[in-house]
Amino acid sequence: MRSIGDSTAEIDGRALAPRPHETILVGAARLGIEIPIVCQLPGQPPDGGCRVCLVELEGSPRPVAACHTALAAGMRVRTTSPALERLRAAVRALALPPPGHAPRNASHPYLRFTRDLCITCRRCLHTCEDIQGANVYAVVGRGPETRLAFGVDDRFETSPCTSCGACVEVCPTGALTDLDREVPAAEETRVTRSTCGYCGVGCQVEVLADARTVRAIRGAPRAAVNRGHLCAKGRYAHGWRESAERLTRPLVREGDRFVPISWPDAIALAARRLEEIHARHGPDALGALTSSRSTNEAAYLLQKLFRSRFGTNNVDCCARLCHASTARALSEVLGVGAATACYDDVEAARLIALVGANPSEAHPVLGARIEQARRRGARLLVIDPRRIELAGSADVFVQLRPGANVAVLDAIAALLIERGAIDHEYVAERTIGLESLAAALARPALERASEVSGVSVEVLRRAAELVAACGPTLFVSGLGTSELTQGTASVRALANLALLTGSVGRPGAGLLPLRGQNNVQGNADMGGAPDSFPGYQPLDSVETRARIGALWGALPPPTRGKTIPELFAAARGGSLRALWIQGEDPAQSDPDQTRVTEALAKLEFLVVQELFPSETQRFAHLVLPAAGWLEQDGTFTNAERRIQRVRAAATPPGEARADWQVIRDVARALGCDWDAASPDRIMDEIARVAPRMFGGVSYARLGDDGLQWPCPSAEHPGSRRLHEHGFESGRARLTHTAFEASPESGVPGFPYQLITGRVLHHYNVGTMTRRTPSRALAPCDRLEIHPSDAAREGVSEDAEVELESRWGRCRARAELSERVAPGTLFLSFHFPETHANRVTGPAHDPASQCPEYKLTAVRIRP
Ligand code: SF4
Repeated sequence: MRSIGDSTAEIDGRALAPRPHETILVGAARLGIEIPIVCQLPGQPPDGGCRVCLVELEGSPRPVAACHTALAAGMRVRTTSPALERLRAAVRALALPPPGHAPRNASHPYLRFTRDLCITCRRCLHTCEDIQGANVYAVVGRGPETRLAFGVDDRFETSPCTSCGACVEVCPTGALTDLDREVPAAEETRVTRSTCGYCGVGCQVEVLADARTVRAIRGAPRAAVNRGHLCAKGRYAHGWRESAERLTRPLVREGDRFVPISWPDAIALAARRLEEIHARHGPDALGALTSSRSTNEAAYLLQKLFRSRFGTNNVDCCARLCHASTARALSEVLGVGAATACYDDVEAARLIALVGANPSEAHPVLGARIEQARRRGARLLVIDPRRIELAGSADVFVQLRPGANVAVLDAIAALLIERGAIDHEYVAERTIGLESLAAALARPALERASEVSGVSVEVLRRAAELVAACGPTLFVSGLGTSELTQGTASVRALANLALLTGSVGRPGAGLLPLRGQNNVQGNADMGGAPDSFPGYQPLDSVETRARIGALWGALPPPTRGKTIPELFAAARGGSLRALWIQGEDPAQSDPDQTRVTEALAKLEFLVVQELFPSETQRFAHLVLPAAGWLEQDGTFTNAERRIQRVRAAATPPGEARADWQVIRDVARALGCDWDAASPDRIMDEIARVAPRMFGGVSYARLGDDGLQWPCPSAEHPGSRRLHEHGFESGRARLTHTAFEASPESGVPGFPYQLITGRVLHHYNVGTMTRRTPSRALAPCDRLEIHPSDAAREGVSEDAEVELESRWGRCRARAELSERVAPGTLFLSFHFPETHANRVTGPAHDPASQCPEYKLTAVRIRP
């Protein structure tokens, strides 16, 4: 026998020095020796369940598992031998149950499970737990009876499956698969890297498609945003492209019906009617809503058309309806109205505070990253009126009444100041206003905050103790902070907490408001707002006006235009006569629906760019069929300010066209000589129009993972975080707005507080997701009602319930649920037949004009 050194081991005759905690498997890999293993996932420790990695160890009476045996000095290991091969074959044969017995499980619209192919390697189980943070699978039974189990009766719909499809990616045998993979790929199938068009997370996708058909979508493996993971919408909900309902030709209104029209005639009609109304009634008789579903380039061109050609700032976008309060408050307090943190801060955070956000459903891939971080040791504070999924694993869950954010956040801030548990150095160096904030917060007693929020003093104290113990915190907020009459005040209170804890500009901490629609961040960045040019540049800045005037050749006045509610009010009053709506459906999505439709009906000329017939399109005079996110080139900007490429993977159906092309052609018909031959040329112009934010952005630089703004020069790497080196204005301002009860709380005769929001399987007004098999997973809107309220009102599960507010009525099916507290109701708004926004009212935040979707006083009738 050859002797080996005291400090070395030998594998297949090759010596190596074992490293601390190294297994035989890892040591062998270091030598380039591959030991077969089934149960190990890339980047994860092996499960040890497959027993395929058996090796012979000198002196051991039987083979050992290489993945679970520590490599030690003096060991001699053999990884191949005829006996080992026989043993491995026997292990594999044992793992494979005899084929042909179990039927294929087809209980899911996208996933399939074939038990006969399952070797119980547990790769799906670990992926589900480790990546998605769900627990769908279990291995049950012993010996030959061992099998994979999920849900009650092995049905996906009774399991906690979120349909993310991550298990399918790792199944080595094809036991778990999805329908997409079963469609034979055509020879000409191409793979196109793009950005998911479903939410503001901005996951990178690889789209497998031939010229006309999208066959499958996968997560881009090493993408900075999603690292290969996707949610059900991003991975599977692409069937809308093939829907027979797609708008495929321009349509013009003739009386009560729409008739097809050619593109040249549609372009000429749009130009002529807008010009006529402009000539007769002046610039402010026109307005435009840019789209948060479309690209940055399309949004930029539409606002440019109305500002430069028609001389009006009547341009707004749906950010008005979601994060206008966030943008307003953060820009007041910090100088920039956007996320200060990035997604990578989730993994670096000691404490994640989720405030009015439900990422598990509305931003699922980020929700999964938060759950992964929690499992690795991050602490979690959840402040929400609903017991959202992440509340179940929170260290402290603060279930407050809708609209009481300011009271709760102020109470936590007051406790931190009182205990001296603030970052004194940071506050002294980087902020102003501590004394006046402390004085203002000293007044409202903790008991008063508890009374208005419905949260016990003890829970408020526990929340403050958690923040005090962890220090810098990552504050992840959602529409539950901003869509309130105190939306701006809520975000100011949140910013106070972020500043007091020294969180802004630090790794693993800061403010991360999640954006709802895929490009709502970019849409606002591009100037889809009545009070600023692209890049949030003031309308009255001399320097900005000189630069943009030179580029555009014409400028709007330096005074702000109308916001969405003001535009609709002007339409009802007759002063707004023409409106161009790009990829939005305000007749379904905006609050106070009755008055919105009244406004749309009064317009002389309404242009709608859309994928499908919509509630808004019913009022249109000209309908322009649009290309969807899988069918056009451009960029989207996600919630962490990351500008990423969108690439056409397939051609749009019929004559549908990308929004930017249509706007450019209308501008041409109006005599504009624009350099807008392609999206990359438009981006080059955007970089010149807003150089401090986008000066270094070009398609050549965006690459696979894009760039985070601000990126002011060609050498600048982009900005993962804002304010890392201090605030532009010198110091951030701690401000206080006293809690005020919403006009929708305590309304006599309307005892329930209604929250509206999203569910996992649908996106916004459901235009796309309702036209996919996802509809089987969530077939209608549901009204969540607490069982005690249901019992009192005589409402049973699945019964149809009428909801009535002071503004209107709607109907929905009841779901008895303890996610909501007694007295609170939750309703999604994805289905037009529900008319959820007939119930929501005109109340809005006076500072941002963001509507109060998150609180409406209602009563119910079974
Ligand atoms: Fe698309 Fe959002 Fe899902 Fe990512 S999390 S796949 S961006 S819908």
